[in-house]
Amino acid sequence: MSQYWTDLVHKLDPYIPGEQPQDQQYVKLNTNENPYPPSPEAIQALDSYNKHQLKLYPDPESSRLREALAQRFDVQKENVFVGNGSDEVLAHSFQAFFKQTQPLLFPDLSYSFYPVYCGLYEIESKKIPLNDDFIINTKDFDIDNGGIIIPNPNAPTSMLIPLSDIDKLCKQSSSVVIIDEAYIDFGGESAIPLTKKYDNLLVIQTFSKSRSLAGLRLGYAIGHKDLIEGLNRVKDSFNSYPIDSLAQTAAVSSIEDDDYFQQTCQKIIQTREQSCEQLSQLGFKVLPSAANFIFVSHESRGALELYTELKQAGVLVRYFNKPRIDNYLRITIGTEQEMQKLIITLSEILQPGKIS
Ligand SMILES: *Cc1c(COP(=O)(O)O)cnc(C)c1O
Repeated sequence: MSQYWTDLVHKLDPYIPGEQPQDQQYVKLNTNENPYPPSPEAIQALDSYNKHQLKLYPDPESSRLREALAQRFDVQKENVFVGNGSDEVLAHSFQAFFKQTQPLLFPDLSYSFYPVYCGLYEIESKKIPLNDDFIINTKDFDIDNGGIIIPNPNAPTSMLIPLSDIDKLCKQSSSVVIIDEAYIDFGGESAIPLTKKYDNLLVIQTFSKSRSLAGLRLGYAIGHKDLIEGLNRVKDSFNSYPIDSLAQTAAVSSIEDDDYFQQTCQKIIQTREQSCEQLSQLGFKVLPSAANFIFVSHESRGALELYTELKQAGVLVRYFNKPRIDNYLRITIGTEQEMQKLIITLSEILQPGKIS
């Protein structure tokens, strides 16, 4: 607290990121990072990058990167916006589209950064409750609004909304609809093709999860060129060079290496299905996941207690002390070995001494 803070800063309720322990070696299954390294092509691009070039500002328009993304998603460069992590793309989108007279709508259980941006940009919002099975009913969003944002698959529930529902949502809405597809590559169908049909749809994705580049900080939005122009107006009123030269270089190579991308996504999906099976056998209820994480609760043991015991045993998962989900754990899908360590540790916690 300081007398020098503005009223707004006093009122902020900032996002709290998952732990990134700098000391101990944990099996780290708490922040939905990818357990596999980035594409070897991306690593090669960084290795051969001419560091003398760092004296120059990067391309403010990230042209090569936007071109590569446009090609991949069969859209034009004018339909692509890139930012310093999709969190930045989200922030600019909130500022560009959501400060309206009507409230912004999002699910009561969703990405906890959304209310934070509402606080920062003084945007009114209304939370739409998921049903008791954590299902998002898009019809519930058919009320007066100044915008809609939904993660698909949803975080932290991991559950997917069918594309046909998103189609209806865009049709019924006269405001901007944002689909946050941070996890779409792990089993969902992207809404990007619908951006050609609806000029109010913006789809946001990230390099942090399916492309193993969380440390590079890169995200992007795809939508009608007028939406992209709105984002560019905000970006160029904030920071003209959000994507550094190294990030632009590595990201292009990552996009071009589709084989590696497909392989690592498939591996994670396989490991996820295997882990779901094993966790069910240990008495966990596992929500159907289309993401690189699962959302689980145990039939007899509390989530906070399990989180604590796992941490003591060197396995880090995510616990949210929030209404409705305070008996769930969010577990990122790691390598097969990491998941085995999780399963063995949990068996030990649940049935001490009975480990095979
Ligand atoms: C991880 C995540 C993001 C942020 O990703 P970055 O690109 O790393 O900023 C955005 N939305 C959701 C739902 C996420 O889980």
